[in-house]
Amino acid sequence: MLKIPTRTETIYKFKAKGGKIVAVAPYHYPKALFRAFNILPVEVWGPPKLNTLESKAHIQTYVCSVVHSILAFYLQGNLEVCDFILIPHTCDSLQGLGSIFLDFIKPKQKVLTFYTPRERRRIDISFLSKEIEKLYNQLCEFTGEKPDFEELHRHIDIEEKANKMLKKLLNERQYLDIDDFNFYSILRTKEFLPAEEFIEIANDVYLMYKTDKPISKTPVIVSGLLPEPMEIFTIINEKNGFVAGDDLAITGRRLYPPSEGSNPFVRLAKSIIFSPPEPSRGDSVEARLKNLLEIAKRTNSKGVIFYIVTFCEQEYFYISHLRKGLRENGIKSILIDTDINQELSQQAITRLEVFLETLQ
Ligand code: SF4
Repeated sequence: MLKIPTRTETIYKFKAKGGKIVAVAPYHYPKALFRAFNILPVEVWGPPKLNTLESKAHIQTYVCSVVHSILAFYLQGNLEVCDFILIPHTCDSLQGLGSIFLDFIKPKQKVLTFYTPRERRRIDISFLSKEIEKLYNQLCEFTGEKPDFEELHRHIDIEEKANKMLKKLLNERQYLDIDDFNFYSILRTKEFLPAEEFIEIANDVYLMYKTDKPISKTPVIVSGLLPEPMEIFTIINEKNGFVAGDDLAITGRRLYPPSEGSNPFVRLAKSIIFSPPEPSRGDSVEARLKNLLEIAKRTNSKGVIFYIVTFCEQEYFYISHLRKGLRENGIKSILIDTDINQELSQQAITRLEVFLETLQ
């Protein structure tokens, strides 16, 4: 098994070489832009299994556990090492978190926000390019650096290579003889590793686990924000299944297509705009259903597990429509609600096990 670097090791290694760190809330943002300023984005998806007592003084209890964890994590002093905090407007809850940081907590770190438009028109590309350029100008002001277009393009190219590697691993998952827990632990290093290091690790994994025959287990698709608690993978594998299709925000929804053009801000904007359909971009039910059916066909999956963080309204809006559409196309589905700070309930485990049995 490969040795996977931890977030903490990566942060201190990067800082030791004179770099800075930006803590990033979920989930779309122009990674290459930060790297051009020698700032390493380290994503904060919680973390899970946290005591979130501190966050309850600032946020209502009906806000999702991801947002509670991010705030509690900060309030417990765990983001001291970071120089910046970026909060994209992924959902109303994260927008609210951005306001709490900017207007009430006022941390020592610079807090940046980032708005992603909800459509895919030319005007949306133009809007997002300007939003990215605004971030660029803020970073110039805060760091005193001014990377030129050549430097920006260089980092965009490296990030695109890392995205290509992620896509290769996901698309060829059926030919990689590794269990889901370890597979996703490796994929998730993309949340904090510099792209160059992720490419190297992903390439080693591919060479180490690639086989000629497809895995002879039952393929399923997992959809949602993030696979927390990660024990879902153990349950799937123990029931002779494996995750062949990915519609997760941490991975499959961020398969950004490669971009072209002379303006780096437009390149970055187009990559995000043309990423796979998903809830935070307000894509239609039809577009999401089509995408799920294509994944199901490509991976020969007959079931979708919606692994949804409780109170994540934007995910729930789609679920009943998607499940109906999948059913009409012969694909079974199950909805499992999760709290990233709690273990999976025995009831959820049993439902998941029964669902997997029905697919065999
Ligand atoms: S789980 Fe949903 S509501 Fe919570 S931060 Fe993510 S997108 Fe927003």
